[in-house]
Amino acid sequence: MSGPSESESGKVGTPELFDKVVNLTKRRGFVYPSAEIYGGFRSTYDYGPIGVLLLRNVKDAWWRSMVQLREDVVGLDASILSPPQIWEASGHLANFTDPLVDCTNCNTRHRLDKLDDPEVCPNCGTRGSFTEPREFNLMFKTQAGPVQDAGAVAYLRPETAQGMFINFKNVIDTTRVRPPFGIAQVGKSFRNEITPGNFVFRTREFEQMEMEFFVHPDEAQQWYEYWCAERYQWYLDHGMPEEQLRLRPHDDDELSHYSSGTSDVEFLFPWGWDELEGIANRGNYDLTQHAAHSGEKLEWYDQAANERWVPHVIEPAAGATRTAMAFLMAAYDEEEVKGETRVVLRLHHRIAPYKVAVLPLSKKAELADPARALAQQLRGSFMTDYDETQSIGRRYRRQDELGTPYCITFDFDSLEDHAVTVRERDSMEQERIPLADVASYLRERMI
Ligand code: ATP
Repeated sequence: MSGPSESESGKVGTPELFDKVVNLTKRRGFVYPSAEIYGGFRSTYDYGPIGVLLLRNVKDAWWRSMVQLREDVVGLDASILSPPQIWEASGHLANFTDPLVDCTNCNTRHRLDKLDDPEVCPNCGTRGSFTEPREFNLMFKTQAGPVQDAGAVAYLRPETAQGMFINFKNVIDTTRVRPPFGIAQVGKSFRNEITPGNFVFRTREFEQMEMEFFVHPDEAQQWYEYWCAERYQWYLDHGMPEEQLRLRPHDDDELSHYSSGTSDVEFLFPWGWDELEGIANRGNYDLTQHAAHSGEKLEWYDQAANERWVPHVIEPAAGATRTAMAFLMAAYDEEEVKGETRVVLRLHHRIAPYKVAVLPLSKKAELADPARALAQQLRGSFMTDYDETQSIGRRYRRQDELGTPYCITFDFDSLEDHAVTVRERDSMEQERIPLADVASYLRERMI
């Protein structure tokens, strides 16, 4: 945890906001504690019917920017189970450790590198009560197959990145990529974190969105700067407020030994600035390591220049689950409307779980049937909710809490004028639109 927040707006940085968002996610089906009927399983979460849409949208928005809209990046989906050789070569077996200390007074366990004061227990306040730090490897070890011998040892990947390095040769041999190019992957990673917490911010099972961008060594610095700017902008483009987002270059003593530059995209969480994504200039460390350990040549042959070189790598590595949480924190808002508090998630339309909700004014078949038909028609293009329960006011409020950008009300006049009322979430402004134009109206605003 990194000290008190530096919020200027007053909205961010309060522990109350954290509690409100966590409560909302539970109440509205975003996130449930895992194995809840068995008392829960510490620090694991299940994404419910709304959360799964949100998380998928975060990953899709990333994929769209990083793969779909680019000529120079291809995708990959590598296996999670992996042999020790990969982690030996990458350095994870030896170095992927956190320094662990126990407080001898209150028996709590802490990561030494995350303490505000390395001498003082943040739980009980005792000074000098810590044990000597122990290095704790964060990888989950398991066994593949029925025989428990050394040959059966496997690991759950602690990052997706190694999948790109070990497939570097496959990708250059089977596709038409040439540097500068990237390989991108979205998927689960596992770390046996000592201090999971802050809801889904730090969990033992989480999702990452990573890309390895392979470049000529002389161009590494320029591409590093390019990706820092590009990734920072991605969060702004998807609705993060500038005052809650910063790009923080690492100090020299924070850099890994192979990195010549790393910057974190940080979000102002209720507990202070914390990391959403790291962008690192990794040099040729990874390909060189895997080449040495596997005996494969992992290099680029430039035919025109008749030159061989090992590409340098720029890595933007983001967390999908952590970013989804940051989007929720940034989007949460409360305002007074006609003497009542309106809770609204002002999510960017690409991130919002539902894009539109169709609400017939009455449950009667004469309205419900055509309203259902409209919802069904919209489903071809937009994630669409349909809701006929309770008063229209309560239904609007429910959709506001889900962050649905548009609500469409089908009323008795709709039967006559073949038009519906579209209500925009943030302004609450309403507009009458011909039924036939609804899809194009939404498309213009959201695609
Ligand atoms: P931290 O310092 O917070 O432990 P890290 O610097 O070790 O993170 P990286 O290895 O750079 O993280 O991983 C890239 C991204 O993956 C992080 O920026 C974060 O968004 C996400 N991430 C890493 N560990 C976790 C975790 N335990 N739970 C959720 N997301 C995580």
